Amino acid sequence: MSHTVNAPPAPAATSQKALVQVKNLRHLYQKGSASDLLVLDDVQLALRDNEIVSLLGRSGSGKSTLLRIIAGLMPASAGSITIDGEPVAGPARQVAMVFQSFALFPWLTVLDNVEIGLEAQGVAPAERRKRALAAIDLIGLDGFESAYPKELSGGMRQRVGLARALVVHPQVLLMDEPFSALDVLTAETLRTDLLDLWGEGRMPIRSILLVTHNIEEAVLMSDRILVFSSNPGRVIAEIKVELPQPRNRLDPAFRQIVD
Ligand code: ADP
Ligand code: MG
Repeated sequence: MSHTVNAPPAPAATSQKALVQVKNLRHLYQKGSASDLLVLDDVQLALRDNEIVSLLGRSGSGKSTLLRIIAGLMPASAGSITIDGEPVAGPARQVAMVFQSFALFPWLTVLDNVEIGLEAQGVAPAERRKRALAAIDLIGLDGFESAYPKELSGGMRQRVGLARALVVHPQVLLMDEPFSALDVLTAETLRTDLLDLWGEGRMPIRSILLVTHNIEEAVLMSDRILVFSSNPGRVIAEIKVELPQPRNRLDPAFRQIVD
């Protein structure tokens, strides 16, 4: 029908639509009837397309709880989460997580650790292998496919964690204090490599939510910082970051010290 052909373009608001939308989220941990712990209350958060957002808050403020809920790994007590307009109910396929403690399987090689997420998704073995090798290469672990986690440095282990997250081609990457178990120089290298991949459009993801308690890291890494309160956790302020120079360049001299 002609009126559909001539329909006006989608409203501009569509491009502003949040990729991840968290509304009125509340979470209590049941600790026995008298002393339930209210960890998150009235959390509002929007992650838009093509941005890195830091969630900056103290230890124990409920940041990991919030990420687990966004990833669909546990249900919230109340509130709603949508990813690309779809309500999250159960483990969300569009989301991958990177953990502070890497969460690798010590009895599996690098290649198997990266492939394992694809196995759960029912991807055929040949395709799994191909995608895992590509992710390992992308993240700079070429040549370490057969190594075991215990043979790797902390920085390399977290690269495996990143490859394992990227291999599923998530839309959203949730990073839970991904650099805080690493020494300062290693963390700096990994941060910069990540920003390079992001800046060059080489990571198959749309947006990153980075949880941190490191203010400098939040400033260096993100387009916006959401400041999170404690007791209960809630987004209380938003800071837009505008750096005077591009953020994704590591001084070559610095890299020599690290490598
Ligand atoms: P953060 O990541 O900001 O450090 P968490 O989400 O890990 O915060 O924890 C927030 C609060 O919830 C803390 O007081 C913690 O002890 C408590 N908590 C976390 N996980 C559980 C759980 N599975 N059961 C009960 N309490 C928990
Ligand atoms: Mg945490």
